[in-house]
Amino acid sequence: MLLEAAGRPPVAAVVPVPEPGPHQVLLRVLACGVCRTDLHVADGELPRPKLPLVLGHEIVGEVVRTGPSTERFAAGDRVGVPWLGWTCGDCPYCRSGRENLCGRARFTGYDLDGGYAEYTLADSRYCFALPAKLAPAAAAPLLCAGLIGYRALVAAGDRAERLGLYGFGAAAHIIAQVARSQGRRVFAFTRPGDAAAARFALELGAAWAGPSDAAPPEPLDAAIIFAPVGALVPTALRAVERGGTVVCAGIHMSDVPAFPYELLWGERVLRSVANLTRRDGEEFLALAPRIPVRTTVETLPLERAGEALARLRAGRMHGAAVLLPGAAPGA
Ligand SMILES: [Zn+2]
Ligand SMILES: [Zn+2]
Repeated sequence: MLLEAAGRPPVAAVVPVPEPGPHQVLLRVLACGVCRTDLHVADGELPRPKLPLVLGHEIVGEVVRTGPSTERFAAGDRVGVPWLGWTCGDCPYCRSGRENLCGRARFTGYDLDGGYAEYTLADSRYCFALPAKLAPAAAAPLLCAGLIGYRALVAAGDRAERLGLYGFGAAAHIIAQVARSQGRRVFAFTRPGDAAAARFALELGAAWAGPSDAAPPEPLDAAIIFAPVGALVPTALRAVERGGTVVCAGIHMSDVPAFPYELLWGERVLRSVANLTRRDGEEFLALAPRIPVRTTVETLPLERAGEALARLRAGRMHGAAVLLPGAAPGA
């Protein structure tokens, strides 16, 4: 499914199966999650994507062939491909364990063709080994919603016992489970009027669920904002206690409105998380089965990628959307 220009839905196209180059693997895509970032790319909210582009950076695939110098994987191996597709390995960020901030990094489904396809290439050094027993559709959302959510949870701090999650979609439904397993209490903020999302949060063990414009029943120690809504920044700062952290977890957000300094005073911290490191991935993918994290997914045939994006844009997606190549288009 090719994105030919921002502002248009991806369209079905027939392109040659690519040949793996050095360090690369050719993958048969088994499942690819639909992430909000895909929507920001498709809507033109992120600058300069590769065009035409195959979106998708939550790829579960099976290795078909390996390129020269590819030693990590062999044909038949099950791998996961995340957003971080390549880094320079050489800049101060790469050399200090912060490859997520590499200025020359290339991202899957943005600078590099991704997983809204039957086949894709990936640099084996940035792929994760996945157990073959893990269902591809259930594993796909772990590769971005899970990974970036996990990085945001770590950024929220070990001491954040009362954790607010603003926007209860794919990432929050995974991170709520991780937070609960760590003994934290989760306060879920959903779009006003979205009773289904609030119910879903309570089913996953949230201590409280309510509309994002409501105050929580008690002050929070930290909050993570998954919704791309800048107005939630002062709202979340108002909800956290002195010393609390507000983490913006998305790649794009509408403008943050001005707010009184008093909301930041008291050593509150406002920060973003950007991308992921391979270490985040290794840590989270080892942790997820031990909890165990159970993802709620809705699968759609690959050909319905445009519909999946439209429903995500409209807030009509329960849990995570996952595209399956080879499924009957009418299914
Ligand atoms: Zn670098
Ligand atoms: Zn993503």
